[in-house]
Amino acid sequence: MSPSPLPPTALPGNLFVVSAPSGAGKSSLVKALLADDAGLAVSVSHTTRAPRGQEQDGVAYHFVDRARFDAMVAAGDFFEWAEVHGNFYGTSRAAIEQRLSAGEDVVLEVDWQGALQIKRLFAHAVLIFILPPSWDELARRLHGRGEDGAEVIATRLRNARHEVAQAEHFDYLVINADFGRALEDLATVVRAQRLRYAVQRQGKPLVFAALGLA
Ligand code: 5GP
Repeated sequence: MSPSPLPPTALPGNLFVVSAPSGAGKSSLVKALLADDAGLAVSVSHTTRAPRGQEQDGVAYHFVDRARFDAMVAAGDFFEWAEVHGNFYGTSRAAIEQRLSAGEDVVLEVDWQGALQIKRLFAHAVLIFILPPSWDELARRLHGRGEDGAEVIATRLRNARHEVAQAEHFDYLVINADFGRALEDLATVVRAQRLRYAVQRQGKPLVFAALGLA
């Protein structure tokens, strides 16, 4: 079952979709963005990959087996889903729609395939791509975080060539050479989206009414 496009007015919250090749710093940037902005919520994805390090079920991901994931796909439970580096990942449709319809702003950390699926379903989604400053730096960060073996790192670096080429489909590009600057750039995109005319009009009806603009 493939989900149908959602009418934007039914879901007043802003949807930010952040993608990047592994090692670009996406998770750390999104974590810092959420810590600074109480108005943003992150969605916990489902995945078939095994937990890494200290990752807890229901916090980092909902860890499920392949049969359960396939059943969720068949039931149309995912807003988007994709196979990334040999594992399956998906965003729960119910959780996203519930938050957006309550007017909450949501951040999704998904791969580029998921981001493009979301843009097709929800044209108002803001797509942000994070790039490392160079290939050397990306390799250095992947080795430096000490989470994956050499083989996994090699796969991720190989895949990164194709992932980086997808940046052109995104609305915004953040280059993570300096973490503080990249975080500021990310927060600026969020702020600019909230200042859009249509978003202000929907979120500030009293101001519009007081000014006779309603
Ligand atoms: P990791 O295994 O390193 O946590 O994630 C691998 C990739 O899967 C990352 O690019 C991450 O953003 C992506 N990913 C995580 N959750 C989802 C999801 O729900 N949907 C999609 N399409 N990709 C996801």
